[in-house]
Amino acid sequence: MADQTVPVKCLVWDLDNTLWRGTLLEGDDIRLPDAVREVIVTLDSRGILQSVASKNDHAPTWRELERLGVAEYFLLPEIGWGPKSESVRRIAEELRFAHTAVAFVDDQPAERAEVAFHLPEVRCYSHEQVLDLPGLPEFTPSSVTEDSRQRRHMYQANFRRTAERSVFTGPDEDFLRSLELIMRITAAGPDDLARVEELTLRTSQMNATGVHYSDSVLRELCADPAHDVLVISMADRFGPHGAVGVLLLARNAGFWHLKLLATSCRVVSFGAGAVLLNWLIDRAFEAGVHLVADFRPTERNRMMEIAYRFAGFTTDPCACASGHGSPTDPDIQRLHLIPDHRNEPDTMRLVTEGLLTGR
Ligand SMILES: [Zn+2]
Repeated sequence: MADQTVPVKCLVWDLDNTLWRGTLLEGDDIRLPDAVREVIVTLDSRGILQSVASKNDHAPTWRELERLGVAEYFLLPEIGWGPKSESVRRIAEELRFAHTAVAFVDDQPAERAEVAFHLPEVRCYSHEQVLDLPGLPEFTPSSVTEDSRQRRHMYQANFRRTAERSVFTGPDEDFLRSLELIMRITAAGPDDLARVEELTLRTSQMNATGVHYSDSVLRELCADPAHDVLVISMADRFGPHGAVGVLLLARNAGFWHLKLLATSCRVVSFGAGAVLLNWLIDRAFEAGVHLVADFRPTERNRMMEIAYRFAGFTTDPCACASGHGSPTDPDIQRLHLIPDHRNEPDTMRLVTEGLLTGR
């Protein structure tokens, strides 16, 4: 039995007499009720992705969705004559969602039964439930952030980016430059921490790339003048990547203490960790302080460890942080670096709004 408490991340719609009134193939006058349009827009604004599984010919059906002004809301449409369970399975696979995160709505009991039989974890709903969907707990995420609101755009941008990458014949470096990446570092506000929290929930990678700080602790540190909690977001010419990382820094006399640096696995290939470290090193150089970084090596954060080492961090002892104790956890290494000037990255544009200057 499907678990109703698990949030739905993607809803797959049947079209004829479910999304719209009428049967396209029978030449009906197709009508999209305003209330259904509202359901589509509401779910989209909550960050729930939507797709289509329809037994129809692709071209005229997609044209109809365009005519109704809702085509842009549907990712990876499956419009054809195969079994709907296969359509739903492909959509989940492309999105890399577990079947437990996928829902299906169709007016035909036989179609729902076919999907339920082959994909028992997919939750199935009838057309009579369409208007009730936004009120159901599984379609009501606990928080809606800027990243949830732009989630569909992030996926659409990623599809275009991936497609372009697959036909790009030059070296990776050139492709990276062609993206016109922008990294934005900002002081975290409450909404930003919800974005980071969401990121940690969606990519388990996050907490493995450094020392773990719970979201409630980060929230408290936001208000603490001795700490800087910074949120990293990225975008490129295809669209937003959303919040991709968090950095926690304590600025002490003589040394800055980097307590946490975590980035999403989605931006590892952009060298985001190295760019952040180099920016921080340059800021510390300007401030005339040493840098100390806590690091917990794990199987999964090898890339991050390489970035620290490559940036010049070592385990050599230094007097700067003496008197500040050692890490309580024996697995945590305390890395150290004497900063020097670092150039701006040549693979992306950094926007930092004057953070970590002065003092
Ligand atoms: Zn030192």
